[in-house]
Amino acid sequence: MSTRSSVIVVGGGVLGLAVAAELAVGGHPVTVIDAGGVNASRIAAGMIAPAMESLLDPVARPHAALLRRARDLWPAFAARHGLAPEPTTTRWISPDAADRAAQLQALGFTAEVSGEALTTEEDWRIDAGPALDRLGAGLTRVEGRATSVRHAEGRWTVSLARGDGIEGDVLVLATGVEAALPGLPPEAAARLAAIIPIRGQIARLARTGQGPVQRAPGVYVAPGAGGDRLGATMEVGRRDLTPEPEALTPLMTTARAAFGDLPEIARIDVGVRGASPDGLPLVGAGGAPGLFLALAPRRNGWLLAPLAAAIVAAAVEGRALPQDGAALDPARF
Ligand SMILES: Cc1cc2nc3c(=O)[nH]c(=O)nc-3n(C[C@H](O)[C@H](O)[C@H](O)COP(=O)(O)OP(=O)(O)OC[C@H]3O[C@@H](n4cnc5c(N)ncnc54)[C@H](O)[C@@H]3O)c2cc1C
Repeated sequence: MSTRSSVIVVGGGVLGLAVAAELAVGGHPVTVIDAGGVNASRIAAGMIAPAMESLLDPVARPHAALLRRARDLWPAFAARHGLAPEPTTTRWISPDAADRAAQLQALGFTAEVSGEALTTEEDWRIDAGPALDRLGAGLTRVEGRATSVRHAEGRWTVSLARGDGIEGDVLVLATGVEAALPGLPPEAAARLAAIIPIRGQIARLARTGQGPVQRAPGVYVAPGAGGDRLGATMEVGRRDLTPEPEALTPLMTTARAAFGDLPEIARIDVGVRGASPDGLPLVGAGGAPGLFLALAPRRNGWLLAPLAAAIVAAAVEGRALPQDGAALDPARF
């Protein structure tokens, strides 16, 4: 594959934009097609959290070392693309703080305990909305729905609902939890069909704090532009986007008991995470010439975006994949 192949990326969430930005910096002509509207990436809390995700999500725990390496790609990625993630103090408030600190240390993360509070400096945070805008700023973008794809004579054509089509040497699918586009080869369509939707509701509080990310069993409050985020539900199998305020009530009750007084909920956002059976994303070759996937990062789309971008860029350019490339290979299932 030429190092300057023209690239079409379908999907303007964090994975699609990270891949597109990385390829554009590498000199590829890149076009991003996105349907528009709010996606999971934009409403996310923006935690870049290998330590707490490995500690609290049993699906992530076996991947703790990979998640830590993915975090370590962030400073260089951020510098290349003008982003500003911040190392952030995280506090876990629970009677099991000492046990949890020991678990974190066993996973290779540092943590300190004081009474019922565990503190770690391992995790980072970024304001998702502004970061998404920044990633997409220099890219050629088409707002519209892709309706089908076609591969003929070494070129991909993506047809748009508005009637025209876009051609390129390379097609990257970063379509979140959407169904496979007609025209995809069966192997690629099967990989997309295996993605499990996990709906998440997240509240924005009527306050923007500057403090640490606070976590307790089943809940977090993370500072963020436009209001602290209280989250988040994990609703496996659901992909509808209608908020259900009553689902946030138990989270608020737990948060107030653990963290003290909190302001009221100002608004609720809903997004759908895509997940694979082993909890790691599907990133890399898509099973047909010039086809690549960047899908299904579960709860860690922001954390894993630089790794996904590095893998796809290497695969497109025919270079050796970075460490962890094989672990994310879409063909592993
Ligand atoms: C409540 C909540 C909180 C979260 N908090 C965090 C967090 O703190 N840290 C973290 O790392 N992760 C977090 N996540 C997870 C993270 O948001 C996801 O893993 C990530 O956003 C997935 O990114 P994506 O690019 O794969 O998909 P998406 O963000 O869903 O983007 C896919 C895009 O593709 C477009 N698209 C799909 N099909 C088509 C088509 N046919 N034509 C045109 N466009 C199309 C869609 O319109 C969409 O814009 C959170 C998720 C939720 C729901």
